[in-house]
Order: sequence, then C-alpha cells, then structure tokens
Amino acid sequence: MVALQEYLLFQDDHCRSDADKMKNPFDTLERVAFRKTLRDFVAKEIKPNADTWDEAGEIPWDLHQRVGALGVGGFGVEEQHGGLGMDDYFMRATYNEEFAMCGANGVPAALNGRMISIEPIQRLANADIRSRVLPDIVSGRKGSSLGITEPSGGSDVAGMKTTARFDSGTYVINGSKTFITGGMTSDFFVIGARTDGDGLAGISLFFVDAATPGFSRTPLDRKMGWWCADQATLYF
Ligand SMILES: Cc1cc2nc3c(=O)[nH]c(=O)nc-3n(C[C@H](O)[C@H](O)[C@H](O)COP(=O)(O)OP(=O)(O)OC[C@H]3O[C@@H](n4cnc5c(N)ncnc54)[C@H](O)[C@@H]3O)c2cc1C
Repeated sequence: MVALQEYLLFQDDHCRSDADKMKNPFDTLERVAFRKTLRDFVAKEIKPNADTWDEAGEIPWDLHQRVGALGVGGFGVEEQHGGLGMDDYFMRATYNEEFAMCGANGVPAALNGRMISIEPIQRLANADIRSRVLPDIVSGRKGSSLGITEPSGGSDVAGMKTTARFDSGTYVINGSKTFITGGMTSDFFVIGARTDGDGLAGISLFFVDAATPGFSRTPLDRKMGWWCADQATLYF
C-alpha cells in the first residue's frame, strides 16, 4: 500500500508542468507581487551601488525614503500614522530575504535600526508621540534606533545598568548604550533604562528625542564588516 502511494505521488509529480510543481501554498498573488517589487528594487537600486556605499561607510539618506516608499516600514503600523494598517510576517520575511541578496549586508543593517524601533513606538508610545513621529520614521524622512545594549554587555538584558529617575516632573536618564545601529544619524531613540529594582521587570522603555539636553553620541571605529551601517555609543 505504501509503495503504491509512493508510485502514484511520483507519477503525479512527473505529469505536472514545471509551473505547477511544489507551489508554496502561502505564496498569495499579493505576496508574490511584493517579492517581485523588492527583487527588482534591490537589483536596480542597491546591488550596483552596494560595494561603493560599503567602502564609503554610509548609505545615501534618500535610500531610507525610497525604501520607505515600498511600504516595508509600515507593517503593523496604523494607516493614520503612515503605516500599512496591516501586518504580514511572510512579507516581513520576504523583505529580509530580498534585501539580504543585495551583496553587502551593511545596507539592510543600515536600514534596520529604524525597523527594530518602530514596533515599540507603535505598541507602547502614547498617541501624541505616535502621531508626531511615526509618519516621518515609517516614510524614512527621519531616523530612529533602539538602544538596549550597554558597554557592560548585551546578552544579559536583565542586568541593564542605565537608570531613569523621576525628578521634578520628568525622567532623567543616566548611563550609556553601545553598538546602536543608526545611532549617529537617528532623530529619535527607544531607550531601555532601569526604573524599579533588579531584573527584567525593573526595566522601562523611554522615547528620547536626540535634541534632548545631556544626550551625546560617538561613532564606533571601523568594524570587521557591515561598514555602511552606522553603529554608535550613546551617552545620557
Ligand atoms: C552590527 C551590530 C549592530 C547592533 N545593533 C544594535 C542595536 O541597534 N541596538 C542594540 O541595543 N544593540 C545592538 N547590537 C548589540 C547586540 O544586540 C549585542 O552585541 C548582543 O546582544 C550581544 O551582546 P555583547 O556584544 O555585549 O556580548 P556579550 O553579552 O558580552 O556576550 C559575549 C559572548 O558571551 C556569550 N554569552 C553571554 N552570556 C552568556 C551566557 N549566560 N551563557 C553562555 N554564553 C554567554 C555570548 O553568546 C557572546 O558570544 C548590535 C551589535 C552589532 C554587532
């Protein structure tokens, strides 16, 4: 019985045209079209320039906006804030797959400091912050980064040392973050800081404008790779 089933499957496979073989059931027309748009963009706009940008140590700022126009920063973000008003993890994966094929992974890395900070802003920031900054971040007009890792270590997030103390109606952050992608160019930051005791439960996330007094930053030295992605150390 098993042998017969295998034979029938084998025969069936050989009777189908190439186009019908092994179709991914999750590849909807929309997702296939999205992949094609990204593949064409990467081939035409990024691949020919990737090495030059990597050697130069930066990507042109307008690339953030041109990639923003593809909608890739808008997953999970409401339409009123410049997002797509929907989410799709297959499309998110497609974005990462197609951009990884550009030949220099510093390029997607340079774009992704923004990506990892959009979600906490969308999920956790108040309505005023969301409407004020998300349209500019999602469209690529302004930059944003997520600051979790510290000079003392990154894996042990629960051991975070940066503190935030409530003082005269506002929080004052003290500490340092390092390896922060987009750190030298970002206008906005989501920063992890300890507000309440030891461990993970004592950590809060803060939305910080780069223009806040007392904030400064320095670039990391040239790295082993991902040269065109800026990583910075931040000081509070
Ligand atoms: C290119 C780049 C971009 C980055 N961008 C950002 C960013 O935008 N925002 C941000 O917040 N961070 C960023 N990071 C930091 C990144 O998240 C950290 O590098 C990472 O969390 C590891 O932390 P660490 O480098 O301090 O290594 P450590 O935590 O010091 O770890 C060093 C080594 O020890 C191992 N280790 C640690 N703890 C244990 C354990 N308990 N058991 C066994 N092994 C252990 C680790 O696997 C690693 O091999 C970036 C890093 C790089 C390289």
